[in-house]
Amino acid sequence: MYDLLIKNGTLIDGTGAPRFAADLAVQDGRIARIAPQITEPARRVIDARGLMVSPGFIDTHTHSDGTILDPGSTGYNHLEDGATTELAGQCGSLAAPYYGEYSPDCGVSEETYKEICQSYTSFFAYADSIPHGANLAFFAGQGPIRGKVMGLGAGKPNEAQLEEMRALMREAMECGCLGFSTGLVYTPSVFAGTEELIEIAKVAHAYGGVYTTHIRGEGNQLKDSIEEALVIGRASGIPVNISHIKVIGHHNEGASREIIDYIEENQKAGMAITADQYPFTGGSAPLISQIPPKYLTEGKETGLRRLVESAELRRQAEWSIFHETDEFESNIYSAGYAGCLIAGAYKTTEHVGKTLAQLAEETGKAPFDAAIDLLAANEGIVQGIYFSQNQSDLLRFLSQPWVMAGSDWSDYAAPVDPATRAGGHPRAVSTMVHRLELIRDNGLWSLEDAVHRLTGMPAAVYGLPTIGRLKEGLAADITIFDYAALHTEADYDHPFRRNRGIEYVIVNGGIAVEHGAFTGLKNGKVLRMSR
Ligand SMILES: [Zn+2]
Repeated sequence: MYDLLIKNGTLIDGTGAPRFAADLAVQDGRIARIAPQITEPARRVIDARGLMVSPGFIDTHTHSDGTILDPGSTGYNHLEDGATTELAGQCGSLAAPYYGEYSPDCGVSEETYKEICQSYTSFFAYADSIPHGANLAFFAGQGPIRGKVMGLGAGKPNEAQLEEMRALMREAMECGCLGFSTGLVYTPSVFAGTEELIEIAKVAHAYGGVYTTHIRGEGNQLKDSIEEALVIGRASGIPVNISHIKVIGHHNEGASREIIDYIEENQKAGMAITADQYPFTGGSAPLISQIPPKYLTEGKETGLRRLVESAELRRQAEWSIFHETDEFESNIYSAGYAGCLIAGAYKTTEHVGKTLAQLAEETGKAPFDAAIDLLAANEGIVQGIYFSQNQSDLLRFLSQPWVMAGSDWSDYAAPVDPATRAGGHPRAVSTMVHRLELIRDNGLWSLEDAVHRLTGMPAAVYGLPTIGRLKEGLAADITIFDYAALHTEADYDHPFRRNRGIEYVIVNGGIAVEHGAFTGLKNGKVLRMSR
């Protein structure tokens, strides 16, 4: 008696090989058998006639390392998007090791947070001890590594400090991290120089890790910033992944051509370079990270207080945003106040769904003053969406065989009413589905290739051999969908609407999504890199 039998489906095995008709049986969380016809009984049978049966999708870029601390977190949004594994700890941030920064919206008290996050070892022990919606694997964020050793300020590490950073990186890799991430626009990651990053990269590389990076600039500085990532890759030998690859700034439209040529040239020369991408032109990041980092070197709280108190300092900071763009590219500069949408506000939720320009008009304040007051009223916790990217560059990157999918979002807790207006981003619920929809409607890839880049390819790139393929013995992570019907219903006004076309999502043999909706099952595990 099998636990689960999927009958009459069309299997796409995740390797890029042609689809084939077969039945698939699941036992004890693993794929037990794949055969043209399986007649043995099963506790549960799914009739997949007319549907595609593929490995569960891998969301290669999420920020759920913070949200999973909350026991109420489900990650239903990623599951309903067809993702069965999330790679978290991106953009230089992982909740561990604790270095003095705490966000009160993370779902646990500061005391508990400190305890869980005191080390990689304690963080992994906690993550192992609680159920997750999808499987999770983690990068070590370079922000906490630097923050723990050097605090929040600028400055170059001395040899003793470098050795401390290397030791933390070693511990992270021993715990099973996939490598390390940077967020070179965020404090304190932003203060790290290339040489410092090379030293950390050498340690991660010795364990088989990957370097994934939110680069310093994605607009005017795009080429230079990618070059820095490749310098780190070349000097340390580590494979490089460019996070949420994009071109920021309408005046930079078309720059993807040059970037693609540059990356391919280096791939031909032998470098391992990949990227991840979300398929929407609205970027998103905390609003506080749009303030030049030099105003936040004493921490967010102090920096924000000083900006609230001094009109002169606010004037300087705003001037810097619009004039010192070589030093730091703020989304306020590239999108303008009218292109900055408030997607989340920890306290003043009545402001969600407005642009900064609208908020300024309503409050009769100058836009930058309105932004600072908004941050202050929300203890710095405001999420923004910034409209400054171009669909043509998005599609050009999507057409590259080395680009994978990453939502760049985190797990939601209890399911939100799909009719809810504003307060999220469509990529939170529909990165995989929208990507497949764009590929299908623009004729970019065969479905087999498209699925490979969502499954077998990321599993190989990141050293996760038990997932990403339909093969006997591997984890029974399976997504069953109607390719012709796949459709993203969510948009910026209705960011919680449910996708069409995802029928079942199975995590470690358990049915987490049925007819497109989360069943409540949290069957995900923590995965560790294995090469
Ligand atoms: Zn990022």
